[in-house]
Amino acid sequence: MRQKKFLLQEKDIPTQWYNIQADMPNKPLPPLHPATHKPMVAEDLAHIFSMECARQELDTQHAWIDIPEEVRDKYAYYRSTPLVRAYGLEEALDTPAHIYFKNESTNPLGSHKINSALPQCYYCKQEGDTNVTTETGAGQWGAALSYAAKLYGLEAAVYQVKISMQQKPYRSAIMRTFGATVEGSPSMSTRAGKDIITREPNHPGSLGTAISEAIELATTTPNCKYTLGSVLNHVALHQTVIGLEAEKQMEMAGEYPDEVIACFGGGSNFGGLAFPFMRHNILDGKKTTFVAAEPSSCPKLTRGKFEYDFGDEAGYTPLLPMYTLGHDFKPANIHAGGLRYHGAGMIISQLIRDGYMHGVDIPQLETFESGMLFARTEGIIPAPESCHAIAAAIRSARQAKEAGEEKVILFCLSGHGLIDMTAYENYINGDLRNYTISDDDIEKSLRNVPQVEI
Ligand SMILES: *Cc1c(COP(=O)(O)O)cnc(C)c1O
Repeated sequence: MRQKKFLLQEKDIPTQWYNIQADMPNKPLPPLHPATHKPMVAEDLAHIFSMECARQELDTQHAWIDIPEEVRDKYAYYRSTPLVRAYGLEEALDTPAHIYFKNESTNPLGSHKINSALPQCYYCKQEGDTNVTTETGAGQWGAALSYAAKLYGLEAAVYQVKISMQQKPYRSAIMRTFGATVEGSPSMSTRAGKDIITREPNHPGSLGTAISEAIELATTTPNCKYTLGSVLNHVALHQTVIGLEAEKQMEMAGEYPDEVIACFGGGSNFGGLAFPFMRHNILDGKKTTFVAAEPSSCPKLTRGKFEYDFGDEAGYTPLLPMYTLGHDFKPANIHAGGLRYHGAGMIISQLIRDGYMHGVDIPQLETFESGMLFARTEGIIPAPESCHAIAAAIRSARQAKEAGEEKVILFCLSGHGLIDMTAYENYINGDLRNYTISDDDIEKSLRNVPQVEI
């Protein structure tokens, strides 16, 4: 029988994360203090993040960082995750390409986010914190953080974008099941929230409002730290367990990827899968192609500009050097909530500038069409975010067919879509549409990016 899944033993769960910053020929530019525009050091970041995460964020020295044994213990609850050969999808496409996917949907929370929630909470506990806070949009990150906080005995307070809370009630129920308190943002529990509600009583909330509230809570509550589920360097670092496992599993399959693909919100599942393979492009002359799949309605990689910009709408965060559409860019309300972010991570942005990877943008209808084909051939209903990676893999497999090329494609299935069935129902009923944005609109929102020399 041909082999469908490639599985590792628990003892093969990685013992170290891979820090690509150490091997990058050009290091990412430093984040800047929002007021003084001076480069930030770890101590500056440690006011809101745990000290260890602040250190990891700026570490350009150490290529390998030990995973604490207590974190590996918790990884073992759901890792390793399967590497799967997508025979069903290959046959439906009648392609000579070999398609593999790394299935990060098999954990209890249903997405890769738990890989970083665990270490972030662990370090807070180690450093004597009692509380953690964060924002969440669709709720995958909030759910992962709530679970991780409970495992390490921390209280979690999650600000969920108000409109998402109403659209996806099950995610806040999941967070509360794990013991977190969940507030719709904007809320009356912070000054930032009260100000927003006073100005605009019916504000639907955004990641920007929720970040502002969570940061305020973290800086005004003793022993409380802020956590983030994407964008930052230390988050992508934690996610490299995905690619390090996949590297061993591809070896078991006797293949090496010609192309690595992942969907792209802030870059954590992409970096997690791609960086361990990219190190062989940087160090050993491998020629793998790396593709980040973003929504056409939020195209920061393909149509954004490399600038210093804020990570949030209110402008509270450090200035980050990244491809951005402008911090007050308002993406259309597509179902892939995890991909509606205006900027890319700092590492990714530098890697794009240096030609190690590129973005592709995909319209909403193509993502669902691809997700439906994947569900019907592989039996897994993918998260709307993951559908972007699947769509890019399908495009590539079709090209391989035209070229008669037996190429090896590896993509990340970042999560399942079982709590997103409203989105599938809307697609099946013909109620979804594509969104295009004009160059004019992009230019307009880029006008509000702060002026910083690069
Ligand atoms: C959050 C999320 C994403 C996007 O975040 P990245 O940091 O870009 O990985 C993608 N897929 C799923 C399932 C998510 O929950």
